[in-house]
Amino acid sequence: MGLLRDWRRRRAARRRLSPSAWARGEAVLPGLRRLDPAARRRLEATAAAFAAEKRFEGVADVQADQAAIDTVALQAAVPVLELGLDWYAPWTTVILYPAGFVATHEYEDDDGVVHVARGPLIGEAWLRGPLVLSLEDALAPAAGTSVVIHECAHKIDMRQGDSNGLPPLPRSMPVEAWSEAFGRAYADLRRRTDDGMQDGDPGGPLDAYAAQDPAEFFAVATEAFFAAPLRLRRGYPEVYRQLEQFYGW
Ligand SMILES: [Zn+2]
Repeated sequence: MGLLRDWRRRRAARRRLSPSAWARGEAVLPGLRRLDPAARRRLEATAAAFAAEKRFEGVADVQADQAAIDTVALQAAVPVLELGLDWYAPWTTVILYPAGFVATHEYEDDDGVVHVARGPLIGEAWLRGPLVLSLEDALAPAAGTSVVIHECAHKIDMRQGDSNGLPPLPRSMPVEAWSEAFGRAYADLRRRTDDGMQDGDPGGPLDAYAAQDPAEFFAVATEAFFAAPLRLRRGYPEVYRQLEQFYGW
């Protein structure tokens, strides 16, 4: 199994990405322009392997051409450039909606009550399930955001089971330092939202949506780390440093 996958991965990794994928990727993620040629080539190989290994399913007449798939794959490859593509191994399917979609979910809360949640979404990551994206938002996200990286961060978080904002850390990173940096920043953002800070407010250290729970904080912080690094570095420098160590960028 492993050998066949490695062989397939190496073969897929030789393909070059569509030029438009690079142009779009660089518009979304400022760090891409600063990669040296070797790192750029490694990122391209990771993205090409991602595009080959995942099954892309369009919903409602979505026709995702290779350039669109490459644009999603390039963003998805960024967080696992150093961690390795195997961090995404537990799932295979990427579902693409044309634009924002209305999801209906049943979920059970801690008291065993089943709720049905409905809402317009641009992305979702299911525990042990697919990654779901609005293609429109994945290709041209709002400035300083990347829904692809956001949902991939949830997948990275879920690698040890639940999503709780604490992905499995390498030995070199003490959990205490991570918890302290994230805990302090999360408490600060909660205070700000209690004081009236709103989602989408560009003035805060991080988007207010991150104050929902620790899992969202990790996903939004990861998104900012790659798509709006200056904002995160200024707002929560300790979180920035933890993510720098974790992602190896
Ligand atoms: Zn999220």
